Amino acid sequence: MLDSQHMPSILREVGETFSTLIQGFSVTFRNMFRKTVTENYPYEKVHFQPRYRGIHVLHRDESGLEKCVGCFLCAAACPANCIYIEAAENTDAKRISAGERYASVYNIDYSRCIFCGYCVEACPTDAITHGHGFELAPYDINSLIYRKEQLLEKPSGTPAKLS
Ligand code: SF4
Ligand code: SF4
Repeated sequence: MLDSQHMPSILREVGETFSTLIQGFSVTFRNMFRKTVTENYPYEKVHFQPRYRGIHVLHRDESGLEKCVGCFLCAAACPANCIYIEAAENTDAKRISAGERYASVYNIDYSRCIFCGYCVEACPTDAITHGHGFELAPYDINSLIYRKEQLLEKPSGTPAKLS
């Protein structure tokens, strides 16, 4: 038998449970009538959030020169140690970037990259960003090492990988 002492606490518990159920189901019912967001890949283009971190893009400036000046800061910031750079000097006859040096080799090993974005944060010239490329799965792990030619924007501004 329930005594009158316990009655208020039981009623409170029932009330709280009921209000929790209403809150929970209100989320369910609200979402039941929302437009579905399922991606119909590969039959339709995938819709990315603007800040999605995909395959990197190495950028050019407005005159078409490479923004990367071969400073190695991205490689130093990379926690997965997956960026390999070789830098070379620009000359008057052969100018690749606006700085003193440019990256003659720029590789990213996507079998190690964790898409943390530290390289992007570390770059002083905004030379590297994440693009929206995501189709990385290969049969051969060696092909996960992307070279500069695959990452570098074309002079038209189109990322090499996505063109
Ligand atoms: S996203 Fe992170 S792990 Fe990948 S290359 Fe940049 S710093 Fe390294
Ligand atoms: S991408 Fe940026 S941080 Fe990395 S070497 Fe080039 S200029 Fe330096």
